[in-house]
Amino acid sequence: MPAATPLPNAETLFDQLADAVYLIDPETSAIVWANRPAWASLGLSREDVLDHSVLSLQKDVHGLPQWSQIAEAIRSSDCFRFLGRHRHQAGHEVEVEVNTTHFTLDGRAYFLSVARDITNRVADQGSAHSREKQLWFALNEAVDGLWDWDVPGGHLFFSPQLKRMLGYGPEEMLPRLDTWTQNVHADDAARVMAALEEHMQGKRMRYEAEYRLRNRNGHYLWVHDRGRVCESDAQGRPTRLVGMVQDISERKQLELRLQSLAAQDMLTGLASRLEGSHVLQAQAAACQRLGVPLGLAFIDIDHFKAVNDEHGHLAGDEVLKAVAQRVQAGVRGSDMLCRWGGEEFLLVAPQTDAAQLAVLAEKLRLSVRDAMCTHQPPVTISVGVASAEGPQIDLTALMARADAALYRAKQGGRNRVERG
Ligand code: GH3
Ligand code: MG
Ligand code: MG
Repeated sequence: MPAATPLPNAETLFDQLADAVYLIDPETSAIVWANRPAWASLGLSREDVLDHSVLSLQKDVHGLPQWSQIAEAIRSSDCFRFLGRHRHQAGHEVEVEVNTTHFTLDGRAYFLSVARDITNRVADQGSAHSREKQLWFALNEAVDGLWDWDVPGGHLFFSPQLKRMLGYGPEEMLPRLDTWTQNVHADDAARVMAALEEHMQGKRMRYEAEYRLRNRNGHYLWVHDRGRVCESDAQGRPTRLVGMVQDISERKQLELRLQSLAAQDMLTGLASRLEGSHVLQAQAAACQRLGVPLGLAFIDIDHFKAVNDEHGHLAGDEVLKAVAQRVQAGVRGSDMLCRWGGEEFLLVAPQTDAAQLAVLAEKLRLSVRDAMCTHQPPVTISVGVASAEGPQIDLTALMARADAALYRAKQGGRNRVERG
């Protein structure tokens, strides 16, 4: 018998495939093997691709917690289909459709992903002939997605781009209103529905909302959504609305980060004056509603200028941090301590009258004095407390009384608590 011609090995065969294939570690999302189309389509070498993971390659997967959710979805389905974008080394994105299966070999679990470049398919969907189709295509490219709602028919059209943004295939996502409502974040739903309702009732020129929308793998994107009624029936009831959705996740994350920075004092980590003012307003309203007293305490470090003068500004900063920590450790969970400015702090204590607050303030004063007694010069605080209650709490007057009490504490020799 003639010897059979040896077949090419599996790796060589895989390199001849049109699609990219990745073998993935389910725990870390690291790529443990990839065929030629995989690394070549990303502008990487065979070796370099092994330094990557799904997290570093997929634009639509952010962080390990999200990867864990996806991994869970992959494990619980025979073949998990995901539409996403790969990052090419040259900086551009590659639109891909990824089918992932899971298996175990020699006791080790793997995911096997086959990714198909669908850039051309995506472009084809738009290569329309009629003017309307071209416009539709241009619009679709300009934003992340379009929708078209036939109100009486209960039919909600989602553009392919919108589906892709959420990781769905062109044939997925039932074209119904509840497909959308079910994926709006629970904390945003009431606000978004109210905005839509108000527009449909003619109270707003257009519907516009920023909210979180769940994508296929359970992760939330921040979107900017806006639309308008474009057809109404004889009674003026809206029958058709169209709108567009933009993925604003990156901008929103930056915004939330800036917000949290502004809400926090950089040096001490306490709430900032801005945040403190918000909490103060909110607590005043709550105390008015409940008919309970609201207590305020201004806390000021004594002779702090001398600390700076003797030891320098950096040492002064350390003292500020230490005092802030000490005071924070002594207040109750319901109290809010913020850095009001310089070496002055404001304590907002709901459901607390001046007598109770004076007792707490005295404890804080002793705690700081004892903790800082070895410091030269010893560091102490003066505190002015005041409280108010009733249906109309005058915050300006209340703060003026606490401030006046602090002034008296300073005048009286410092390192003491006074009631306003
Ligand atoms: P008093 O007992 O009357 O409160 O005296 P004092 O020296 O504490 O008060 P004064 O208002 O004269 O000085 C406060 C000092 O706090 C002056 C300012 O340079 C310093 N200071 C304000 N903010 C900071 C800060 O962030 N870091 C440091 N190191 N010093 C600060
Ligand atoms: Mg001071
Ligand atoms: Mg001061």
